Amino acid sequence: MRKPIIAGNWKMYKTPKESLEFVRQLRDKLKDMKDREIVVCPTALSAAAVVETLRFSNIQVGCQDAHWENEGAYTGNISPAMFKESGVHYVILGHSERRQFDNDTDARINAKLKNVLRNSLKAIVCVGETLSEREAGKTENVVETQVNGCFEGIGLGDLAEIVVAYEPVWAIGTGKTATPEQANEVHAFIRGLIAKRFNDDAAANLRIQYGGSVKPENIKQLMAQADIDGALVGGASLKIDSFTAIVQF
Ligand code: PEP
Repeated sequence: MRKPIIAGNWKMYKTPKESLEFVRQLRDKLKDMKDREIVVCPTALSAAAVVETLRFSNIQVGCQDAHWENEGAYTGNISPAMFKESGVHYVILGHSERRQFDNDTDARINAKLKNVLRNSLKAIVCVGETLSEREAGKTENVVETQVNGCFEGIGLGDLAEIVVAYEPVWAIGTGKTATPEQANEVHAFIRGLIAKRFNDDAAANLRIQYGGSVKPENIKQLMAQADIDGALVGGASLKIDSFTAIVQF
């Protein structure tokens, strides 16, 4: 049985003060939700303080990227070892905005994933096609290349620490959601890729989140699909009411 996982990706929103005010409210509103994993991913600057505020709660904390090395001359970067010491649980890797603006290639995401796992953190690995790729009928090719690239050299024993997020780029922040059926089709395809690369059991246990304009109005139908195990939520995770409603789907 796969435990649903709802994660909020705050991107470059919320100052440290705003982040703490938000999670204090969230902690109280969601304190009874025990049958699903809840994760918030503030900016790196706020992560340690958010961890402290959520310490005895049922909400975990993620960050939005982490480096492939643990230390070094990499100005502006933060390593998984540093996040680990700060009490962070999850690291989002390969978000399409990082692929677009920060040179995250599959090879780089793979190196980061290995370092996240070496540091005993969990990962949310994002994959997804652009609109032109979907329109050209290349969705499966693109997703297969991304999954193969990101999972290169990852062992079966590490799979339990990894969540995949299918995020069609054309649905991120656009208000356009993939229909639940469209999303489920790609989720099932990803599960098949994992079965081929690892085995059927591993694929059956892998959690695959959908991301792309998830809102309180569409979460129920998405979660009703056989291969959708949660959501990675951008815009709607920034408001208490909408994020709470999504978590309580
Ligand atoms: C995201 O940032 O991962 C995302 C899915 O954004 P939104 O929910 O705003 O489309």
